[in-house]
Amino acid sequence: MPGSTRPNPEPVRRIAQSLDELEILWLTAGLGCDGDTIAMTGASLPSIEDILLGAIPGIPKVTLHNPVLASEVGDDFVRYFHLAAAGKISNFMLVVEGSIPNEKNKSEGYWAAFGVDAISGQPISTCEWIDRLAPRAWAVIAAGTCATYGGIHAIEGNPTGCMGLADYLGWDYRSKAGLPIVNVPGCPVHPDNFTETLLYILRFAAGHAPEIPLDDRLRPSWLFGATVHEGCDRGGYYEQGDFTDVYGSHKCIVKLGCWGPVVNCNVGKRGWMGGIGGCPNVGGICIGCTMPGFPDKFMPFMDQPPGSLLSSNAVMTYGRTIHALRRFTQGSLNKTPEWRRRQVEDHQADVDEPQ
Ligand code: SF4
Ligand code: SF4
Repeated sequence: MPGSTRPNPEPVRRIAQSLDELEILWLTAGLGCDGDTIAMTGASLPSIEDILLGAIPGIPKVTLHNPVLASEVGDDFVRYFHLAAAGKISNFMLVVEGSIPNEKNKSEGYWAAFGVDAISGQPISTCEWIDRLAPRAWAVIAAGTCATYGGIHAIEGNPTGCMGLADYLGWDYRSKAGLPIVNVPGCPVHPDNFTETLLYILRFAAGHAPEIPLDDRLRPSWLFGATVHEGCDRGGYYEQGDFTDVYGSHKCIVKLGCWGPVVNCNVGKRGWMGGIGGCPNVGGICIGCTMPGFPDKFMPFMDQPPGSLLSSNAVMTYGRTIHALRRFTQGSLNKTPEWRRRQVEDHQADVDEPQ
């Protein structure tokens, strides 16, 4: 407040030191399909190229080490991870893709590994890499639902005992910058959700943004605060109780199994690539792929969600009545006003009158 004698209030959010450079070490060696890396190449708001080529002002210079996109192969590629683990890369962000197996649930072998130990000649497990890198990382992002919450690999009965990164490192983990793990779920991760989150953290790194706001599942709150349903193109049909039970219809597909009303995801609003697509918008039911309970709590996928039966039936009664009333009003609005018709009739009479 201008002129106030009160001391400045405590800042609500810390601003990190200003970084000029940041390396991104992207570990794709969790249990996964590399789909999050592939998805990220489709981002446009911003694109990964813009981030890496310095086209965006106010962020550190970024170097990406991702095995799918790197020009180096073999030991030349793994070298950066060894350097970071040895403390020889001062500021790096660790991105983890794929779920984290439980390497302690068996007597021999390993579930997932990356690179080879120079002395023992044995593969280095993914868990070992995370143990080495996470304590030194300036920030950590879990990309995709496998890395955030376990995803498909963590389905009940799987032998690997796999889990999300926060379950592995602990939900109270803090990086060198004091940040929690940042979870960007999605199967795969939404391209722009990932790069937008990355950009936010990079602006934080440069001292130009406050600490990233996260919800209690560590998701960026501005991206995952609303449901699919709240942004879905078909929401108007739902509200009028206009449901379809066939594929290819433009109406609401809740009866085909859409979980959108209870799923935190912005894809209905955002579309998929370049604003186009997005599961229910193009006729695909939402199967809840961004959610910690995915997939177990959403199966079988093609059945109507049990919780939605009650709400859909209620909406059907209310919505159809409202729809009928609207059609009545719409019929009236589709007619020109009475006074305008009289003017037309007067005009016609003038035209018809013999001169
Ligand atoms: S298709 Fe799914 S998300 Fe869209 S309005 Fe229907 S129930 Fe909601
Ligand atoms: S709309 Fe549903 S299925 Fe599609 S990305 Fe979002 S959570 Fe996943």
